[in-house]
Amino acid sequence: MSVEGKTVVVTGSNSGIGLGVARAFAGAGAKVVLNSFTDRDEDHDLAADLAKEFGTEVRYIQADMSKGDDARALIEKAGVCDILVNNAGIQHVAPIDEFPVDKWNAIIAINMSSAFHTTAAALPMMRKAGWGRVINVASAHGLRASPFKSAYVTAKHGIVGMTKTVALETAKEAITCNAICPGYVLTPLVEAQIPDTAKEYDMSEDEVIEKVILAKQPSKEFVTVEQLGDMALFLASDAAAQLTGQAIAMDGGWTAA
Ligand code: NAD
Repeated sequence: MSVEGKTVVVTGSNSGIGLGVARAFAGAGAKVVLNSFTDRDEDHDLAADLAKEFGTEVRYIQADMSKGDDARALIEKAGVCDILVNNAGIQHVAPIDEFPVDKWNAIIAINMSSAFHTTAAALPMMRKAGWGRVINVASAHGLRASPFKSAYVTAKHGIVGMTKTVALETAKEAITCNAICPGYVLTPLVEAQIPDTAKEYDMSEDEVIEKVILAKQPSKEFVTVEQLGDMALFLASDAAAQLTGQAIAMDGGWTAA
């Protein structure tokens, strides 16, 4: 089954992986709903530019994924949601005994609980349509821990658990739910961590990329947003109809080690 004409809602999609996934679906002829918490002219221009580039419908809907009501309202405003990609996410790095409570709450809300709200709002629409796909962008940190990323690791392990549960609850329907667990992708989320890490280790930023970040990835290469977009398209395809409840690592071998 092709995704042409289907509606895909991608949370946190004005940047990075979410934008890469949105571009992949627009390229395959899906109708796309872009989202972030901002409501700037450039967000709306981005939607207009993608619509022009791919000749498909692209809308931008502002909704703050740190708020449950906003997350549910995003799906209601979209009106149709055949494919839901829960991607919005933030990061904060600190030892657990110094971890700011507001950062902890924001990471749990945006990276994990928003997917509860959007999924709860989207499943009735998928059931009505008799078909649906939920694709959660988790992380290699949903399968492995790293020090100083307690909230992120907790949220990502949580969303992997939610993925399996939703898969079981929808197993007898033409609905699947899977998680993609990327290793490192060079997006603003990762770029933001490089200067502080360089200071901490007294290294150049290039050395941080080589000796700290890519040290975890046996491939020694970043995963790309295009590769993740293609994986999301595959999960939405008919070939993946029996693939459900899985946490698929795309991490250059990180979690195989
Ligand atoms: P990014 O910073 O480029 O993108 C994050 C997106 O989330 C942006 O569109 C941002 O606007 C949006 N966002 C942030 N707060 C939001 C909020 N309150 N409401 C709505 N949208 C919000 O980073 P990215 O690397 O593309 O991250 C996307 C997802 O991929 C995240 O869930 C992240 O945890 C996950 N991930 C990233 C990597 C990586 O190496 N970059 C690896 C594994 C998983």
